[in-house]
Amino acid sequence: MAEEITAETERQFVILRNAVENTNEAFITIDKNSTVIFFNKAAERIFGYARTEVVGRDLGKILTAMCRTRHEQAVAKYVLTGEATLIGHETELVVARKNGDTFPASISFSMAEVEGQLYFTGLVRDLSETRMLENRLAQNERLAALGQTVAEISHEIKNPLVMIGGFARQLLKKATVEKDRAKLTIIVDEVLRLEHLLAGLKELYKTQQLNLAGISLNDLLTEVVDQAQSYLGANGIEIRLASSTDVEVEVDREKIKQVLLNLVKNAIEATSAGGKVVVSTKMQEKRVEVEITDTGEGIPEEFKERIFLPFFTTKAQGTGLGLCISKRIIEDHPGCSFNLDSEEGKGTVATIGIRRGKG
Ligand code: ADP
Ligand code: MG
Repeated sequence: MAEEITAETERQFVILRNAVENTNEAFITIDKNSTVIFFNKAAERIFGYARTEVVGRDLGKILTAMCRTRHEQAVAKYVLTGEATLIGHETELVVARKNGDTFPASISFSMAEVEGQLYFTGLVRDLSETRMLENRLAQNERLAALGQTVAEISHEIKNPLVMIGGFARQLLKKATVEKDRAKLTIIVDEVLRLEHLLAGLKELYKTQQLNLAGISLNDLLTEVVDQAQSYLGANGIEIRLASSTDVEVEVDREKIKQVLLNLVKNAIEATSAGGKVVVSTKMQEKRVEVEITDTGEGIPEEFKERIFLPFFTTKAQGTGLGLCISKRIIEDHPGCSFNLDSEEGKGTVATIGIRRGKG
């Protein structure tokens, strides 16, 4: 009978040991002198130490200064008074890995007395991923709330703005005094700029939904270059498409078109009379890169960090939303990348990397 119980106990012990060994939480057991007795697989993964580096050594080695003190105090207090401050409670701490990286962790402790000796076990859960998800969720919520506010304010501003613009245009048609005409022209231009700004803001904060479909890249680029002719004016800038081989890409056609038009428009606006804007493609095995190259003024070093921020513009009529929106759209597309390479006085190359489809 006694033997049977021993075998059963043994079996339960092996099951328990395996369970502890294979769980996602780090299990670290120490004795009352802080010597590590047990260090499971998850502990190795989370802290970055091999078991052999830790077992038999002082736990102080793997704790950050802050939690080391608390831990030593807690153990000392328990040994003295039998009062457990942290035992049974879950605490959140910042813990260091072997490589010095710190991470938020949830820690709870349990205590066992075996043959008159005290053993403390810490259960550590890495909260990095949980925190990251929580932060992203909170940010999405903030963006959604901001989007709602922006939509409401835009709506309130838009109607009077359209009216102001309309009346100013009517007056401009009749105005004969040169000074009045100049003032009315400024009103009309500024109203137009504000209308673009409102449209951009709405776009920026609207929740994005992609309509992905396989499309011909060359068809899209041809359309963009054709449409861009209307931005040229009479300043002798040449824009051309230099792409021969076609490829299928899976994108939201309207959104990518908007990005390309933004970039082509920026390129034209930066280029002076006689300059060139070229839209070209570079095929790679799994990707295709669309390059928009201009021979314009380039971007001064001191602006490079700021050009993607909303409202950063160096143009009198600019909204500073084009690059910011473009970057957002590209980042929303799986497998797409966006890069701007610019040299002041020489020109700029905007590169969009797109994952190739089947074609
Ligand atoms: P906007 O065109 O309304 O100014 P963007 O977000 O499109 O806003 O661009 C931000 C700024 O980045 C521009 O004002 C300009 O200073 C700079 N920029 C963007 N593209 C180019 C380019 N191709 N060449 C030179 N400067 C550029
Ligand atoms: Mg722009």
